[in-house]
Amino acid sequence: MNLLKTCTVTSNSPAKTESIAEKIGQALRGGEVVELISDLGGGKTTFVRGLTRGFGSSDHVSSPTFTINQQYQSGNRTIHHFDFYRLADPGLMEHELRDVLADPSAVTVIEWSKVIKYALPRKRLTVAIEYGSENTRTLRLSCPKFLTYLLEGVC
Ligand code: ADP
Ligand code: MG
Repeated sequence: MNLLKTCTVTSNSPAKTESIAEKIGQALRGGEVVELISDLGGGKTTFVRGLTRGFGSSDHVSSPTFTINQQYQSGNRTIHHFDFYRLADPGLMEHELRDVLADPSAVTVIEWSKVIKYALPRKRLTVAIEYGSENTRTLRLSCPKFLTYLLEGVC
């Protein structure tokens, strides 16, 4: 299947990861789903910080500890950030996620998607962050062709 566009970009600092994500955030039109994959400390939250800034939101981004769903506003547009790390069973959060996914104007960002794998849309941008050394990360980006506008200027 050659429906996927994939590319790799190297980051040598948290600021660089943020600026890569910021470009993607600027390209968001609404309705996109972004899946983030990495080990703890890989840089997912750092990435979301840049994404949110590019989206035009000045809302504070932190790792959700007890909140599983955080929202960042830019005017009347919203990024919904789900982190399923602590959940063995998505429970009510699955309904919440499905509602957001059904909203064509909402942007959805998902970390630790394993427990809701069956609810994860195939049409999404996947960002897999691999640890290199203390300050370096490799970002592997993949998405269906129709989402390649997200990667313009990135790779
Ligand atoms: P996660 O959400 O995946 O657990 P965080 O974004 O919270 O990861 O943490 C990433 C940590 O790694 C931060 O302390 C950040 O400063 C550090 N870091 C070092 N180099 C990078 C890089 N190139 N990209 C992203 N984070 C980096
Ligand atoms: Mg995090």
